[in-house]
Parts: sequence; C-alpha cells; structure tokens
Amino acid sequence: MKKILVTGGAGFLGSHLCEALLKQGNEVICMDNYFTGSKSNIVHLLDNPYFELYRHDVTMPTHIEVDEIYNLACPASPIHYQYDPIKTIQTSVMGAINMLGIAKRTGAKILQASTSEVYGDPHIHPQPEEYWGNVNPIGIRSCYDEGKRCAETLFFDYYRQNKVRIKVIRIFNTYGPNMHPNDGRVVSNFIVQALKGKDITIYGDGSQTRSFCYCDDLIRGMIAMMATPDGITGPINLGNPHEFTIKQLAELVIELTGAKSKIIYEPLPSDDPTQRQPVIDKAKEILHWEPTIQLREGLVKTIEYFDKKLANDK
Ligand code: NAD
Ligand code: UDP
Repeated sequence: MKKILVTGGAGFLGSHLCEALLKQGNEVICMDNYFTGSKSNIVHLLDNPYFELYRHDVTMPTHIEVDEIYNLACPASPIHYQYDPIKTIQTSVMGAINMLGIAKRTGAKILQASTSEVYGDPHIHPQPEEYWGNVNPIGIRSCYDEGKRCAETLFFDYYRQNKVRIKVIRIFNTYGPNMHPNDGRVVSNFIVQALKGKDITIYGDGSQTRSFCYCDDLIRGMIAMMATPDGITGPINLGNPHEFTIKQLAELVIELTGAKSKIIYEPLPSDDPTQRQPVIDKAKEILHWEPTIQLREGLVKTIEYFDKKLANDK
C-alpha cells in the first residue's frame, strides 16, 4: 500500500484523483485550504480509514512522509486565480518549493499538474511539448501562466540539482462532475446557465477554440504518468485533441439540455488564447494513453451531475 499526498485534493480534479487512488488500494492524504475546493467533493470518502484530510495551505512549509505527491493545489479558473493574483503565483511557486522539498527529503515521486497555459496564446498549432509558448508576462493571466511556468522550472531544477523524481504533465481544458457551479469556466458556466434557463454568455465572437477532455480520461493519464520509471520526467501533454469553437460548445450544451436559452455575446477578456489543441503523441507512446470519452458523451454525464446538484441546492 502506497501513502500518497494529493494537494488540492478537495478540488474538481483532486477529488476524482483521491477517489481513483483509494480504489487502487492506496492510502491517501488530501491537503487543501478550500479556496476553490469543497468538502462536499470528498465527503463520501471520509468513511474510508485510508483517507485523511489535512487542512493546509501549500505556501506554508510542512513535514510529511509519503511515497508519492500529486501537486494540484492552485485555483484553475480565471475568475478565481485573478481574484488574488499575488496569492495565485505564491501558491504555484511556494507550493512547488515546499512540495519539492518534501520529495527531496523523503525520496517521494512528485507529479506537477501543469497546464496548456504555459503555451499562452500559441503561435504554433496544435501545441507539442517542444513549443516554448507565447505568454504575456505582465497581463491578467500571467499570475497563473507564469506561476505554472516557474513551477515547471523549479521541478526541472530540483531534478537536475537534487535528483528529485519528477513528473510534469500539461493539462488541457478538462471538465466533468465536481466542477464548482460558480467556477466561471466555460463548460460549467454554459451548463449551469442552460439548466437555469438563463442566457449563455459567449465572450468575444465564440470563434476561439478549446479541446475538452473528460475528467475520467485525464485522471487515468495522470496515474499512468506517475507509474512511469524514474527519468521519464515529461513534460507530457494530457488532453483531448478534438478541437471545438466556443460557439459550437454553446450550441451543443443547448441541444443536450434542451434549454430555451439565448446566446449573448460579452467582451473577450484580455489575453484570452485564440486556439488550443494538444499534440498527444508522447502520451500515446510513453503512457499508452489517449482519451476515450468524447465531448457529447462527457457533456451528458456532466449535465446530469449539475442537474442533480442544482436540484439539491434549491
Ligand atoms: P480547482 O480549483 O477545482 O482545484 C484546485 C484545488 O486547490 C482546490 O481544492 C483549492 O481549494 C486548492 N488550493 C488552491 N490554493 C491552495 C493553497 N494555497 N493551498 C492548498 N490548497 C489550495 O481546479 P482543478 O480544475 O481541479 O485544477 C487542479 C489542478 O490542475 C490545478 O493545479 C490546475 O492548475 C491544473 N489544471 C487544471 C485544468 C482543468 O482544465 N481543470 C487545466 C490545466 C491545469
Ligand atoms: N468563455 C465564454 N463564456 C463563459 C466562460 C468562458 O465564452 O461564460 C470562454 C473564455 O473566454 C475562453 C474559453 O471560453 O475563450 C475557455 O474559458 P475557460 O475559462 O473555461 O478556460 P481557459 O480560457 O483558461 O482555457
């Protein structure tokens, strides 16, 4: 039985990861400060004697003995990471230093949940791992993008300098149950708006693209990456390479919910990437991984989740 630390374990992806790791027979410590995560995402795991909650902020040092660390702590939605940008960059940078310190001391393997945002508003399409990106260092998204880039730098410096057993994945837009209804990300926003019969808010003209991965696929890839031998560091892109415009997403959500919602157009936030699609050749070759759940199927599951959640919250 491995002892595994999941930082950000009460968040959207972290909660699915904790559940999957427990199912595999591991002992899981979920560390979270509940900034964007919620106990309701993990309440069903509390009866499991191999699951432990640790309310802690990753920017503060801590001591813990574990075999593996998945470092997910960081708000991921633009409205949340822009709410306190200094805290966001501290979370990525100090969080990485603190968790890498634990890995260095204990010899634990450590995986960083990095992001497609390291490519910024990409000039190369689709994006392979070799692309260094096009990131504005002083814009409103920089606290997140540059924080995540700096965390990657720290991971590779701890690897070169201290032989820490690192793994870096770059996650492309992932969605599914346990996203916060007011999270502000596009999939949760559109579904909640549709289910409430409200207007669907497209920022810009809706021609910008994203490639959406369902959470179960992503978690499988994350665990496969952690299982690779030492020396396989990544970075490896994880995401679904099927690309959609935001307008297509809005139309699909309207169709699948049967909503009467109108589409309305609002200003595009600055530095909003125009296109995003992962090259996943490395994930296919090294992890034997590729997504199996396509957008329509994943949206149906996610709509079902939000439908129940909104009914319960009434
Ligand atoms: P989320 O906001 O649901 O989860 C983040 C979790 O981290 C929350 O539980 C939050 O409370 C916790 N957290 C934030 N700051 C913390 C701190 N200082 N100390 C301790 N805990 C803290 O987001 P998510 O979508 O589950 O994302 C998880 C990770 O994956 C993030 O690091 C994010 O950058 C990365 N990622 C996600 C996506 C995606 O599309 N979902 C894409 C790229 C990267
Ligand atoms: N978006 C939108 N309406 C919304 C929320 C987001 O049109 O209600 C757009 C947003 O401007 C971006 C895309 O959808 O172009 C994806 O946004 P999200 O915040 O989910 O992720 P990110 O921009 O970080 O990829």
